[in-house]
Amino acid sequence: MSANVLIIEDEPAIREMVRMALEMAGLDLMEAGCIQDAQRRLAEQLPDLVLLDWMLPDGAGVDYARRLKKDEATAHLPVIMLTARGEEEDKIRGLESGADDYVTKPFSPRELIARIKAVLRRTSPQFSEEHLQVEGLVIDGASHRVHAEGASIDLGPTEYRLLHFFMHHPERVYSRSQLLDRIWGGSVYIDERTVDVHIRRLRKALEASGYDRLIQTVRGAGYRFSSKV
Ligand code: CA
Repeated sequence: MSANVLIIEDEPAIREMVRMALEMAGLDLMEAGCIQDAQRRLAEQLPDLVLLDWMLPDGAGVDYARRLKKDEATAHLPVIMLTARGEEEDKIRGLESGADDYVTKPFSPRELIARIKAVLRRTSPQFSEEHLQVEGLVIDGASHRVHAEGASIDLGPTEYRLLHFFMHHPERVYSRSQLLDRIWGGSVYIDERTVDVHIRRLRKALEASGYDRLIQTVRGAGYRFSSKV
C-alpha cells in the first residue's frame, strides 16, 4: 500500500518538484497552498504524513503544526517542516511545535524521500516492507502476499490492510472508530459496521487455516489480534 502525503506549501514550483519526487517513490500526494486549504483537505481525508512549509500566506507553519498536534483527529499525524531557514533556533522551534523532522530548502528529491520514509517507518509500521510471521501466518509487505502454513491466501485490499495493521499491532484492542481512522484514513462518513463486514471477510479468508481465531472480538471494546486464547 502506498502512503499518502499532504504538502502544505504556497510555492507551486516546490509543490511540483515534491509531486514528481513522490511519484517516483510510489507515494501519493495531496496538495494545499495555505492553511485554510489544508483544513479542507484534512476534513476530506487524513494523510499519513504532512509536509508543512514554514511561512504560509495565512499563518506560520510552526503554529499550524502545534494546532495539528493539539487536535485529537490529527495529533497522530507525523509532520515534516519545510523551511528556507537553516538557523538552529528555527529548527528547535520547529521541533518544539511537535514537528517530527525538518528539511531545509533547497533540498534534493532524494533527501526528502529518505526523510519521509524514515519518519513513516517510525510512525506507520503498516508501510514497512518487512516480512512478519505469527505462528504459520506470514505477511510480506514487499510483495503484499499472505501465506498460511505455506498456502497462499487471497485478500481484498481492505482485508490486507486490516491484517497488516493487526500483525504490526498485536495484543492491543482497537475500537471500530480507531480502526476506521487507521485503516480507512479518517473519513467520518463510513459507518462503524463497515469494520465488522471486513473483519468477517478477513476471518473467512483465514478460516481454512484456522487463523481466524487470531482476530478476536473484545466485547464492548472492539477487536484484537492475538495468538493467546
Ligand atoms: Ca512559503
